[in-house]
Amino acid sequence: MNVVRTAAAVRAALGTAPRPIGLVPTMGSLHEGHLSLVRAARRENPTVVATVFVNPTQFGPEEDYASYPRDLQRDTQLLRDEQVDLLYIPEVAEMYPPGFDTVVAVGGVSEGLEGAWRPSHFRGVATVVTKLFNTIQPDHAYFGQKDAQQVRVIRKLVVDLNMAVDIRTGETVREPDGLALSSRNGRLSDVERHAAAVLSRALRRAEALHAAGERSGQRLRDAMREELASEPLARPDYVSVADGDSLRELDSIEGPALLSLAVRIGDTRLIDNLPIEERGRG
Ligand code: AMP
Repeated sequence: MNVVRTAAAVRAALGTAPRPIGLVPTMGSLHEGHLSLVRAARRENPTVVATVFVNPTQFGPEEDYASYPRDLQRDTQLLRDEQVDLLYIPEVAEMYPPGFDTVVAVGGVSEGLEGAWRPSHFRGVATVVTKLFNTIQPDHAYFGQKDAQQVRVIRKLVVDLNMAVDIRTGETVREPDGLALSSRNGRLSDVERHAAAVLSRALRRAEALHAAGERSGQRLRDAMREELASEPLARPDYVSVADGDSLRELDSIEGPALLSLAVRIGDTRLIDNLPIEERGRG
């Protein structure tokens, strides 16, 4: 595996690389969720590029940029074990040199949910993803359903700016008790880790109600809130039942929808979601 730190070195390394090129962007502290995306990229592309970059512009001023978990040595070994061809680890000054002054802002789908609670988050994501796509020029880029809104923001970015990248998604990888894998899970104490299973329980409860025929968005949101309230350590930012495409909040569910939530457990903010499909009932 070739490890490089500059955009110029990426271009030089990929000049003659066989296509398609598959890209897996990450913020490191890798877990099986990331690795499932790397494996999909490995199956589907002769050239696989991974990036590890904790992107400061997608963190708000009060958020955990400084304390975000970092373990480059371990990440490098894991990616080498997965037969990644090229690992790009830019420094902040390489990505955002002095004088950097451009922002990519996606409208609509980036405004609710995470966008409402983290106002500059998706601008940071769209900007860094645009830079990575321009530098690496991948044919396929892999993102996790775990960050369902991010996937929609990036799909919109690619369409609106005519980027020749096919966005591919991987299902959320979970612990046996349902907790979605996240680099932030390692910060939970034992008691908090136990409490964090309430996120997926709340989603499953709403999913079960929907499967039993409930079509009221409000009743599904109430059910998720009730489940979260059963866990004293859980403090929800939001629970949502939204249209699967626009991510607008739904009164009545008539097609594909997204159940999602963001919950604080102690000092750690966790997000999770479940897509739900219509199955011929209404
Ligand atoms: P991050 O390092 O958190 O920016 O995540 C990098 C990529 O891995 C993103 O596309 C995430 O959606 C994806 N990802 C994070 N957690 C999971 C998970 N539990 N299952 C599948 N993909 C994930």
